[in-house]
Amino acid sequence: MRQSKLFTKTRKEAPKDEVAKNAQLLIRGGYIYKEMAGVYAYLPLGLRVMNKIVDVIREEMNAIGGQEVSLTALQDKATWEKTGRWSDAVVDNWFKTKLRNGSEAGLAFTHEEPLTALMKDFISSYRNLPAAVYQFQTKFRNEERAKSGIMRGREFLMKDLYSFSKDEAEHADFYEKAKAAYVRVFERLGLGDRTYVTFATGGSFSKFSHEFQTVTDAGEDLIYVDEEKKIAVNKEVLDDAVLKDLGLDRSKLVEKKAVEVGNIFSLGTRFSDAFELTYVAEDGKPKPVVMGSYGIGPGRVMGAIVETLADDKGIVWPESVAPFAVHLIALDDKAGKVKVAADALYEKLVAKGIEVLYDDRDARAGEKFADSDLIGIPTRYIISEKTLAEDSVEEKDRKTGQVKMVAIKTL
Ligand code: ATP
Ligand code: MG
Repeated sequence: MRQSKLFTKTRKEAPKDEVAKNAQLLIRGGYIYKEMAGVYAYLPLGLRVMNKIVDVIREEMNAIGGQEVSLTALQDKATWEKTGRWSDAVVDNWFKTKLRNGSEAGLAFTHEEPLTALMKDFISSYRNLPAAVYQFQTKFRNEERAKSGIMRGREFLMKDLYSFSKDEAEHADFYEKAKAAYVRVFERLGLGDRTYVTFATGGSFSKFSHEFQTVTDAGEDLIYVDEEKKIAVNKEVLDDAVLKDLGLDRSKLVEKKAVEVGNIFSLGTRFSDAFELTYVAEDGKPKPVVMGSYGIGPGRVMGAIVETLADDKGIVWPESVAPFAVHLIALDDKAGKVKVAADALYEKLVAKGIEVLYDDRDARAGEKFADSDLIGIPTRYIISEKTLAEDSVEEKDRKTGQVKMVAIKTL
């Protein structure tokens, strides 16, 4: 991508009403556009990052047998009445709308109910189980406070997977697989060393749920971390009995602010009971399906990456999610020799399948470097009269700032 053609531009200031660091940097870098509080559009750079995060999650969900679907955002009131969750007294963040015929529909804030209803068409026998179904889909939640940038949107993308198992044992087996897949996801996304499997409230069907909490001051949750065991306990369940149960020593736990980037939850038969989702077991008897749900917010992950890895100059992307692998910066000379060499190098790198953002703009070096720092691509190649004298580019690592000369013919 030639930067001269990229319609977005960097900006010096974020909007005054934007208080979250992640959104400030992402808006300044031209990654996202603020439509209103808690509602952000993704621009070309931002969408590239989002798609990379989605691809990593998709690979790991496919690896544990997940089958991808795309459910609807408009929701049928009758479906939600079956579990009592249509009620605003039970769920306080619904966006609801009226159809022309006077009936109501909702904008999905989660998908347990519609998917359970759908699976009734496909699950009838033990032969149909287990099953794991997932999607990347927009959720709508009328969040009370939306001050955390893309980490708490009123409209946001969620990867939600739902598992359907014959019994508790089969469910537990899948649950552990999903937990391990989540660990891999956050490692691959560059958050592994600061993301903790965290024990949290389990609802009525299991003692605990597991949250994946990334430590950051921008987080809204408080967790208690056991650094040695690499696990944590959410403040909401922290008490003596729980610590004893988990074999944790209160004096070893450190309180940290964190953001929940993912969570996995056993649902038991709550939804299958409500929708009469049963199957005929080997013994010929009908049994309820045991379910679980597994969520990750790719936008929240993107925000958490910005919050935790950015430095005072701008964003620092891990390679796995960077919008481009290389930022090629041409510092043009009067004679135009640099431009010819930079164009050729750009074509060569692209032909090799390397994703390059090529700063071919007619701009000062200082401006190009500042923009490049803000945008945060992992590797920068600077090509100038000086480097061309050595048939080289200057390679700079965005994270460490380390610089070295690299011969163009080796690229
Ligand atoms: P929180 O407690 O932070 O409000 P939650 O428990 O309501 O989150 P879930 O319903 O479990 O969240 O959603 C699954 C995942 O979706 C979360 O782990 C998070 O990554 C993401 N997510 C939830 N709410 C938002 C939001 N408002 N904006 C962006 N991502 C979100
Ligand atoms: Mg939560």
